[in-house]
Amino acid sequence: MKRTMIKNLSQMKGEEIIIKGWADTVRAQGKMAFFDFRDVSGKVQGVVFGKPEVLEVAKKISAEDVVEVKGVVNERNDKTAKEAIEEFKKTGVKDFFVKDVEIEITEIKVLAKSEIPFSLDEDLNLDVYLDNMPFTLKNPKQSAVFKVQAKIIQKFREYLNQNDFTEFMAPKIVGDDAEGGAGVYEVEYFGNKAGLATSPQLYKQIMVGVLERVFTVGQAFRAEKHSTSRHLNEYTSLDFEMGFIDSYKDVMKMHNGLLKYIIDEVQKEMQTELEEYGVEKILAPEEFPVMSLPEAQELLEREFEGVKAVGEPDLEPEHERLLCQYAKENLGSDFIFITHYPVSKRPFYTFKSKDMDGMTDSFDLLFKGVEITSGGQRIHDYDELVQSMKDKGLDPEKFSFYLQAFKTGIPPHGGIGLGVERLTQKILGLDNVKKATLFPREINRIDTLLNK
Ligand code: ATP
Ligand code: MG
Repeated sequence: MKRTMIKNLSQMKGEEIIIKGWADTVRAQGKMAFFDFRDVSGKVQGVVFGKPEVLEVAKKISAEDVVEVKGVVNERNDKTAKEAIEEFKKTGVKDFFVKDVEIEITEIKVLAKSEIPFSLDEDLNLDVYLDNMPFTLKNPKQSAVFKVQAKIIQKFREYLNQNDFTEFMAPKIVGDDAEGGAGVYEVEYFGNKAGLATSPQLYKQIMVGVLERVFTVGQAFRAEKHSTSRHLNEYTSLDFEMGFIDSYKDVMKMHNGLLKYIIDEVQKEMQTELEEYGVEKILAPEEFPVMSLPEAQELLEREFEGVKAVGEPDLEPEHERLLCQYAKENLGSDFIFITHYPVSKRPFYTFKSKDMDGMTDSFDLLFKGVEITSGGQRIHDYDELVQSMKDKGLDPEKFSFYLQAFKTGIPPHGGIGLGVERLTQKILGLDNVKKATLFPREINRIDTLLNK
């Protein structure tokens, strides 16, 4: 008999089936045994009653044993079942726990025994959660985060493919660093020094000269010693770069369309997971609000008492939070673009504004209180690019490989880099980016704590 996924059991009333999964909870009492079984698609209740040989096996099963269960699908008529059906009629959202049927068990096989350190649904502090990740990730509320993340990446690819972008793989072992080198992990490379890429930036730009529109999904590494709720030492960067633009506004428009698509699709296809986290409708309008940095700083001082922002070269995390609060309450958007950051605060490849002295045609996208994206137009003129490197104290000689592209024809172009963990964190309303990261690398931890 073929395996049935638990989420499909509601359509199989009266039939004999086999499910495979984990014994989520186990309660054996006298002549009966009750279980909740779980597979990746859902949870369901199972009962053994009046079958001594099955009961004997059932009584030996403990939580998280991997099992194969044969049985008959019966309709449930109790209060919980009725409530679940009513709830589904009202919201249209399917519960992970399939409550309208149960399995009358006729046979159980144990495929693998398990010994668990604590109950899966205990409330855990972050370190205990991280220390035990191969186990704690099994909690459907945790794994939901990574189902949502996978969906975000899928939709990112989908939208860009639909818009004539080509995916490429950027190398992660690199020579000199685009952002100036401060945050690079050094790698010993056969007697030479190399580094781990802080972004795919230079390769994206080279590829614009080849394929016009490109995107890439991959790890980026930051050797930064911070310990905040928004920083990781290894994160997954979603990047695109597009050629033949008229200005940075074309890049913002593409990015706006991309994020609206991702948010709409995730809200449509991941209702069960979003509901686990009580996510309210995310406001992703056709056109996200846009403000220049100086405008945003003036607004901050005007709208929020005691805030000092005007004249600063960048926004503080608190400013980003307040601007998002303002956009949500007054502009109907959970997103807001801030444009025109000063030359001093942006990497050497950033296009300098023609109309705002000392500023760049760059932007950040803020979402629910934090920066999730940086982007902008890039310099495409060879001489200007070389000068800009020198102004930032970089040695053009060390970037000759990259600079070749600009001698051999690069169109006006621009693009973005988006951290998928921050986006996932903010969609689900998690308080720490590490909770939206599989196996987060942080200052004190590579899987296990380092100072042990
Ligand atoms: P921040 O100012 O918040 O430290 P950044 O400006 O240094 O971020 P960028 O270099 O602009 O980051 O990277 C683009 C995007 O990549 C960020 O908006 C963010 O989503 C993500 N990102 C960058 N660094 C990190 C990090 N250390 N941990 C998690 N995500 C990151
Ligand atoms: Mg940035």
